Amino acid sequence: MKLRLHNSLTRRVEDFVPLDPQRVTMYVCGPTVYNYVHIGNARPYVLFGLLARLLRREYPKLVYARNITDVDDKINTAAATAGVPIATITDRYAADFRADMARLGVDAPDIEPHATQHIPQIIAMIERLIADGHAYAAEGHALFDVASFPAYGELSGRSTDEMIAGARVEVAPYKKNPADFVLWKPSTPDLPGWDSPWGRGRPGWHIECSAMSEAHLGETIDIHAGGNDLLFPHHENEVAQSTCAHGGKIFARYWLHNGMLSVEGRKMSKSLGNTMVLHQLLEKYPSDLLRYMLMKAHYRQPLDWSAAALEQAQRTLDGLYTTLRDLAAVPAAPADELPEEFLAALHDDLNTPEALAVLSRLADAARKAGDPQTQREAKSALLGAGAFLGLLQVDPEVWFQGATQDSSLDEAHVQQLVDARQAAKKAKNFAEADRLRAELLELGIVVEDTPQGPRWKRTSAATVAA
Ligand SMILES: [Zn+2]
Repeated sequence: MKLRLHNSLTRRVEDFVPLDPQRVTMYVCGPTVYNYVHIGNARPYVLFGLLARLLRREYPKLVYARNITDVDDKINTAAATAGVPIATITDRYAADFRADMARLGVDAPDIEPHATQHIPQIIAMIERLIADGHAYAAEGHALFDVASFPAYGELSGRSTDEMIAGARVEVAPYKKNPADFVLWKPSTPDLPGWDSPWGRGRPGWHIECSAMSEAHLGETIDIHAGGNDLLFPHHENEVAQSTCAHGGKIFARYWLHNGMLSVEGRKMSKSLGNTMVLHQLLEKYPSDLLRYMLMKAHYRQPLDWSAAALEQAQRTLDGLYTTLRDLAAVPAAPADELPEEFLAALHDDLNTPEALAVLSRLADAARKAGDPQTQREAKSALLGAGAFLGLLQVDPEVWFQGATQDSSLDEAHVQQLVDARQAAKKAKNFAEADRLRAELLELGIVVEDTPQGPRWKRTSAATVAA
């Protein structure tokens, strides 16, 4: 089955043909570790992590690198504010990032390069750029000479004027051209710094990805991905640096960009106070729900995070888990072989909304299966496809008891009330049974009476959130 991907470079959906099927390479821009990441930051890691899973099926020797930016002015500010060394901030938030990704079901990359561990490679790349006339040193800085690279702007499709406006570039007297960007900048004694041919300083942000990508994946890589907020200037600058440092060789053959996430129709921002911190969301919601939310829109589209969408996602997942609960007695393990239509959706530029629709169809098929063999196969296909998306791995009983949602709930107490209500019903004391049902509802628990006896579950996510 052919994998087709939208390439930002050509603005087209293309067949993915790796340079070397024995070593497919992918680089995703990772987090700057000075705080917890928000749910919008997590979108590329979930979606491109899924792409890595898909690629690995066909190319087991995929090398997937996702960096950690551990030198940055925001980190310096956070460390100064907290009155601690910079490494205290970066170590803490890098560890929290890894833990949050694991809880969100995101596979770890093969390589997780840190910027501060690649200073010699960064300096060497800048020296090469200067030697070849693509960069220059000025007042303790090293700057990329944008005029030396005629293809500058091709990736983002912007004119030079737009680029200058878009980057809100600093007009500095040491720059030849306002669009020239920093490769290296001087550090005052209180800031992190390394000795370099241009004095003690630290790297600019863009050069680290070029240097780390070269160090671990080579001069030309297959896929480079990140949020579309990185398209300009970050990725445009990476292209300029890497292409010029490698004698004109193409840097990344396929560029993938995901759309931005809004909250209740508004841009997520600190000033609006609507930042959805992943670490907090993971306390409140199961990872299935968060992953479902991130996958329900196609990765290139914008994604709106809202209470209504959460409730809808919860209902859909409840439906899938209801099927699994009803078929609990059907012995089935997740199938390794994924259904054709499921794979076809993912091979079509990672069409996750369609892949999720296939999950629902598989659940339907499992429910309606006429004979035990067909039912086993359908359940197995549902579990296999779910596992591939990082969904449906929770025991259905646990899912409906919402154990991952709120640890403060006393499940034994809930069970007592459910049992008491059942006893009251048996004794035909319906007033008492109704009273107990109301008491349970106040705890956020709904009871369903089924032929197998009463089952309880939490009310929807939106209610829990309220
Ligand atoms: Zn990057």
